[in-house]
Amino acid sequence: MQVKILGSAAGGGFPQWNCACSNCARLRAGALRGRARTQAQLAVRTQNRGWCLINASPDLRAQILADSDFAPQETPRSSPIATVVLTSADVDQVMGLLHLREFQPLQIYATREIQEILREENSIFRALEQTAKQADWITIHASKPLELQSRAGEILGLSTEAFAISNSAPSYAGKSRTGDATGEYVIGLHIRADDHSIVVAPTLPRIEENWVAEWNRCDAVLVDGTFWSDDEMTRIRSGSKTASGMGHLPISRSAGMLRSLAKLTKPRKIFYHINNTNPILDEDSPEHAQVTAAGWEIAYDGMEITL
Ligand SMILES: [Zn+2]
Repeated sequence: MQVKILGSAAGGGFPQWNCACSNCARLRAGALRGRARTQAQLAVRTQNRGWCLINASPDLRAQILADSDFAPQETPRSSPIATVVLTSADVDQVMGLLHLREFQPLQIYATREIQEILREENSIFRALEQTAKQADWITIHASKPLELQSRAGEILGLSTEAFAISNSAPSYAGKSRTGDATGEYVIGLHIRADDHSIVVAPTLPRIEENWVAEWNRCDAVLVDGTFWSDDEMTRIRSGSKTASGMGHLPISRSAGMLRSLAKLTKPRKIFYHINNTNPILDEDSPEHAQVTAAGWEIAYDGMEITL
């Protein structure tokens, strides 16, 4: 299995266009040891078959163009990108779908709730369904594994199994939806190929004890590294939500990601979806040192994992 991290930042990227936080300002000034990052985007494949994108970043077009692995191989039109699996309907996870129009056949996997928001409430995503040969949407349900296929029915050698994370719809989807008791609005994914597996979860409001045991059988976990502290955003922008208010368990604090996942011993542990305010992006910061000392890797654009 080959996993490419095409983008490693949370929404807004790093630096963010309208942000002058300490990280963004210092990166612009060349005064921060660290890398610029595009918005979170993963691509997975096995045995050189078609690529499966995990979510669709607002930066997707540039991310595709930057890597020749994603260039068309057959004339006149084609793409090695076969499928997209969505973990939520957040703007930063779905905006890139619009970069995949151009009448390209595509298989898109998403829960019923995510599809409702995108397909029934947002007419713009119908750009993907203007002809019968374009996007085909497949409904995924938590705890029901699926073999991923291309739009033409080619088996990709990858399977996915979703686990339910949150029943909170994105704020743009309207207040009436929040608190829907049974909705699978945010999911995490187990992706498996041959004898290998990874866990992908860019949005994690909590860690459940049984997840840790399951994840310990995987080869790599790529999880929510959005915020270091709960009040990171409220300190920068008054009126902003806390990390937990936005559905992200911060890395630090007594019940944060580092402590909650301390029992992970087998897999590679990788934080991705990192917000531009997060001090771990500064390679000279004590927070960066603390995370790496705990055995975590901090994803960067262009990082590749081969299993
Ligand atoms: Zn910033």
